Amino acid sequence: MSRKTILAGNWKMFKTSAEARQFFSQLLPLITPLKPDREVALGVPFPSLEAAAAAVADSPVAIGAQDIFWEDQGAFTGEVSGPMIRAAGATAVIIGHSERRQLFGETGQWVNQKLRAALRAGLAPIVCLGETRAERESGQTFEVLGRQLAEGLAGFAANELAPLVLAYEPVWAIGTGLTATPEQAQETHAAIRQWLGRHLGPALAADLRILYGGSVKPDNVARLMSQPDLDGALVGGASLEAAAFARIVNFDD
Ligand code: PEP
Repeated sequence: MSRKTILAGNWKMFKTSAEARQFFSQLLPLITPLKPDREVALGVPFPSLEAAAAAVADSPVAIGAQDIFWEDQGAFTGEVSGPMIRAAGATAVIIGHSERRQLFGETGQWVNQKLRAALRAGLAPIVCLGETRAERESGQTFEVLGRQLAEGLAGFAANELAPLVLAYEPVWAIGTGLTATPEQAQETHAAIRQWLGRHLGPALAADLRILYGGSVKPDNVARLMSQPDLDGALVGGASLEAAAFARIVNFDD
């Protein structure tokens, strides 16, 4: 079993093209040469995709979008398709982030359609899932995650999902400074992997990378990543500042 660690950032609605260029001019020297056991990706706003992709050309950093629409083109005002994201130079896309589910009414069915569109466009999908504080406190975490997995991955065969990456992001830990303990995260990642094994087979369950997200910072990343079922991190706030994100990327394993 060798799952390469992914350190992924999610800039959310921050950074213009010029700010993206400046960020990468600071980040790249700090993370190069990249340790061979890891990959780096940044999820950037649509208007900054092209500048970000140009800035990381010839580097090991991948650029991703933060959302995708499920049709390739058409009368869908305001939406952005997989082929458009690819043409801007991105190779990945975040799907189903809890902010999209909570603030914009994104459903499990939409996540499913967006996942299909991402795979069709040749984008590596990072599908997010996670429970709210109320759901964890009432003992519904595994039920909620099982439902999100069932909806998001409905209709896919295991061999179609090879490029998929999952991100477990407890909603109560996003942007709050509260982090799941390494043990809490490990227990949940192991449960997600068991679900994958039951529904999509042991090979996919063993190979699929599951990132943890929720207040990952330079000083807690190493302990989280030491857990066997945590295969990387999806980082919000701490991905906005090059020096902090570089410390996350360069964590000692
Ligand atoms: C996120 O937005 O995916 C996230 C995990 O944010 P933060 O690291 O700021 O909690």
